[in-house]
Amino acid sequence: MPNSAAAMSKTGMVTKIHTRIRADPFSAHYELVGKELGRGKFAVVKKCIEKATGKQYAAKFQRKRRKGADCRMDILNEIAVLELAKANPYVVALHEVYETSTEIILVLECAAGGEIFDQCVADNDEAFTEKDVMRLARQILSGVAFLHRNNVVHLDLKPQNILLTSARPLGDIRIVDFGLSRRMDSITEVREILGTPEYVAPEILNYEPISTATDMWSIGVLTYVMLTGESPFLGDDKQVTFLNISQVNVDYSPDTFDGISSLAVDFIKSLLVKNPRKRATAEECLSHPWLNPHPHPHPHRHARSASSLDEPETSQSESEPDSPVPS
Ligand code: ADP
Ligand code: MG
Repeated sequence: MPNSAAAMSKTGMVTKIHTRIRADPFSAHYELVGKELGRGKFAVVKKCIEKATGKQYAAKFQRKRRKGADCRMDILNEIAVLELAKANPYVVALHEVYETSTEIILVLECAAGGEIFDQCVADNDEAFTEKDVMRLARQILSGVAFLHRNNVVHLDLKPQNILLTSARPLGDIRIVDFGLSRRMDSITEVREILGTPEYVAPEILNYEPISTATDMWSIGVLTYVMLTGESPFLGDDKQVTFLNISQVNVDYSPDTFDGISSLAVDFIKSLLVKNPRKRATAEECLSHPWLNPHPHPHPHRHARSASSLDEPETSQSESEPDSPVPS
């Protein structure tokens, strides 16, 4: 199939990949174990063991044809983004790729702790503490800042696509599902994205240009859900949800944010901003006082107020942009 022609069919897709696509049978090298790890719109993900090493992986099985359309290029785009992001510890690692007549199988690092979704909707004793969310938010932002520096937008950031290396004790995050990701060069029409209404930014609903700011909106929603257990825009039906989003109708009442710091609320407010150009960037978020508490006075540093978002501190992000943030 001519790669270039198909590559132009959807704006912003990257389909040039370096990973060898294996045509020998997956089952010759891996044994499926246990039950399904998860499933999405088109993929089934199963735990497997590599026979040669005994190591555990997650195999994502994706059909090349979906609803009668050839989706091989979408899968190659996903592989290309995973290759590009392999230097970042918070993006799931791609180990191998297999192709059959009907499917492409991505063999991924296994994030054994499952989706953060489960702990977002959990009861109080299982739910995240604010301290947990601060650490996880730093990791998500570190991964997303890496993508954005490389001109890639994820476009499907939600609790089902943020996984944990372990649930108890709470491990580190891994960002998965780059099926909707795009190069940012000139994306204006990515209209098939209306998949997960609750997390979609206002500009997507209005078919306006999307950018890295579109991911930042989703991170605002994600942080809200992780802290409160409630989805800020979810209405009784899709229409109500969309209206809530376009009006930025958000509940910041002390009732909803009981026991949560005002810096956390301030952080979310910097992201749930209708105008994408006025939304905080990933780098700005990493410098936000909520994620940079200074319990011990530092002789060379002035105390910061919430307004420091206007003057993002860049030294930290410039010196070690991709290293895990110690907690
Ligand atoms: P889709 O594009 O169909 O949404 P995803 O890549 O999001 O597919 O995978 C579907 C689900 O499978 C995820 O929400 C998660 O629960 C699980 N999953 C995906 N990748 C992994 C992984 N590397 N380790 C463990 N579970 C995974
Ligand atoms: Mg998914």
